[in-house]
Amino acid sequence: MKKRVLSGIRATGRLHLGNYLGAVSGMLELAHSNEYETLYMVADLHTLTTPYDPANLQAMTRNVVLDYLSAGLDPQKSTIFIQSHVSEHTELFYLLSTVVSLARVMHLPTYKDKLKQYPNASTVALLNYPVLMASDILIYKAGLVPVGIDQEPHLEVAREIARKMNDIYGTNFLEPKRFATNGEYVPSLTGEGKMSKSVEGSYISLTDSLDEIKKKLAGAPTDSGKGEKVPETGGVANLLKFVELFEGQDKRKYYEEKYVGDGIRYGDLKKELADAIFKELKPIQERRKEFENSPAKVNKIIEEGAEKAKSIAKETVREVKEKMGLV
Ligand code: ADP
Repeated sequence: MKKRVLSGIRATGRLHLGNYLGAVSGMLELAHSNEYETLYMVADLHTLTTPYDPANLQAMTRNVVLDYLSAGLDPQKSTIFIQSHVSEHTELFYLLSTVVSLARVMHLPTYKDKLKQYPNASTVALLNYPVLMASDILIYKAGLVPVGIDQEPHLEVAREIARKMNDIYGTNFLEPKRFATNGEYVPSLTGEGKMSKSVEGSYISLTDSLDEIKKKLAGAPTDSGKGEKVPETGGVANLLKFVELFEGQDKRKYYEEKYVGDGIRYGDLKKELADAIFKELKPIQERRKEFENSPAKVNKIIEEGAEKAKSIAKETVREVKEKMGLV
């Protein structure tokens, strides 16, 4: 049997370069390898853990599916589905939650960060985020999860749950590992923290035009362009990270040498970088138009994806219910 891979992205907005380099590029790499069976979902249930607009949720969810397809995920190779369409995820989530202590989830840095960002979001659902994520992964007995480094604390919880379930109930869950990419941490354009959909001014979307990318990069903080030491944090460090990700290590070295030499002209750097980013996004944007014009095709992909995912998920839930004495 092929090793399974599971990943997902919340339906909180258009995908950005962080999602693309940290998660989607890993999803693509594993989908193209014949060693793995890949399942990729839109985490619409996880979207409900922070403020959202119910009237918009369907459209946002579909947008992530379109982003997946336009980034190059192929429904012939990967099962693409929507989390809430496979109700077994929530069923297994409850069963798994019986082996998780309250203290374990309350002390997670990811939980504390989200509460800082959304002080009114202190709900049981937010607390349970990692347990539902564990269910998403374990329900397919997935061993590999392509996600950004920010998700590592959640994967640790998933591994603990797998171990506990196996010890207590004799299940055969795998302990899932993160599949890391070069872009496992894409910094924010603001010079502080990571690029995130929920932080305005921090991101470049996959759907941004060359002009929009230029405008956004123009706003990224810089300095005088020269100094004794290349900064390791802040705006300039982040720009150099983008150069490395989109123009390669040699280009980064070139700018680093300029920084300690006759100085960087940020106008030129930003223009070149914008072109390099857009070059990567252009084919994605063209594919997106094709899928936007074929709604029936997209509906079929979503329906078939749910069916395939459900057939595996059902089997796991049946097994776990049996081992836990429910049937
Ligand atoms: P956001 O933080 O923008 O709301 P999500 O929480 O939906 O994004 O994350 C979706 C996927 O994208 C996860 O695998 C996450 O690790 C990855 N990801 C998000 N932001 C970044 C980033 N700045 N760098 C690398 N990966 C990221």
